[in-house]
Amino acid sequence: MTALNATHDPKLRSWVASANEAGCDFPIQNLPFGRFRIPGGSEAFRIGVAIGDQVLDLKAAGLVDSDDMNALMDASLKERQALRAAISAGLAEGGGKQAAWSKALLPQSNAEMTVPCRIGDYTDFYTGIHHATTIGKLFRPDQPLMPNYKWVPIGYHGRASSIGVSGQAFKRPQGQTKAPDAASPSFGPSKRLDYELELGFFVGRGNALGEPIAIGEAEDHLFGVALLNDWSARDLQAWEYQPLGPFLSKNFASTLSPWIVTMEALAPFRAKFERPAGDPQPLPYLDAPSNRESGALDITLEVLLQTAKMRTEGTAPTRLTRGNTTEAAYWTAAQLVAHHTVNGCNLQPGDLLGSGTLSGPQPDEAGSLIELTQGGKQPITLPNGEKRTFLEDGDTLTIRGWCERAGAVRIGLGEVSGTVLA
Ligand code: CA
Repeated sequence: MTALNATHDPKLRSWVASANEAGCDFPIQNLPFGRFRIPGGSEAFRIGVAIGDQVLDLKAAGLVDSDDMNALMDASLKERQALRAAISAGLAEGGGKQAAWSKALLPQSNAEMTVPCRIGDYTDFYTGIHHATTIGKLFRPDQPLMPNYKWVPIGYHGRASSIGVSGQAFKRPQGQTKAPDAASPSFGPSKRLDYELELGFFVGRGNALGEPIAIGEAEDHLFGVALLNDWSARDLQAWEYQPLGPFLSKNFASTLSPWIVTMEALAPFRAKFERPAGDPQPLPYLDAPSNRESGALDITLEVLLQTAKMRTEGTAPTRLTRGNTTEAAYWTAAQLVAHHTVNGCNLQPGDLLGSGTLSGPQPDEAGSLIELTQGGKQPITLPNGEKRTFLEDGDTLTIRGWCERAGAVRIGLGEVSGTVLA
């Protein structure tokens, strides 16, 4: 795990005034990476770091030679730490770079963002035990959690081509569905379109094929974290998922927040990884002192919904859920990396590992509509009187995340937003 250093100092302030405002997602202690360009342009996307309401162009600031984010992610831990230290020092009040770097700033409101890197492969895990239990009850009342769940970090290989950045709008997917009492399946638009509240872990330096990453070194191979909405068509999923798992119910769209918050920035917001009494302890390859001591992340997540009607009437989005990752995830990010590579599978810079839906233990901490509405049986009523069991056309779903702790400056993951089209 990354140790605390000068870049985490709560007393640090930036000459970018907006970074010092209370509640800002991107103070100088955060420094997340993303890719941006002037809106509507045809130029290549450049590497930027968010500071307050601005983006610092790393190449214009003389901090990187190329705009290849994946190459930057492939840097050694030491090189990445040196880059963060240089950015922090240059953006700090009195650091001497204000005159030069002011010219390398662009307001975020005037930047077009894209997915933060080239994502070669995308794996989605299923670490949310409360989600797995609730969903399991709906699909298999007699056996909600499969016998492997507490031993194996369950995952499947997803699709990278349909991953978009916040602001993504996508058409409601069509496909095969079959009601339990129907004799044969029918074809049409999904009637049970849902979201999934997830974290996306980005791989930094990869591993050679055949060379597993030991859990003690796993975090050195993680570049950082973004917010991820794994849109899911529940009716397609129910009909197709056996025996090989989700397929067309998941790969029509997934949406990421534009900024990757680095593991180093998250250092003040770690938590112990503990198993409830009576649960099996992880096998040795999934266990390490560092993982037990601080393998978990302490991130608050919330989900907001704005319907088309609310947008027309100028009503602010309404909150569906708020919860915390420490209570939701049964496996840590380091365990996912160790498990993914234990058979010799090679991870590469820019690969994305989804956490799975992070639902808390309480019903109102659920990270999907299928849980909030008990399988679509209990519609929820929004403040304006509209009801929802699943997402309707025109709905905009937003996920926000942030970290807060005494003795540290609050940092945010920003937000990921997406809209369902007819
Ligand atoms: Ca998922």
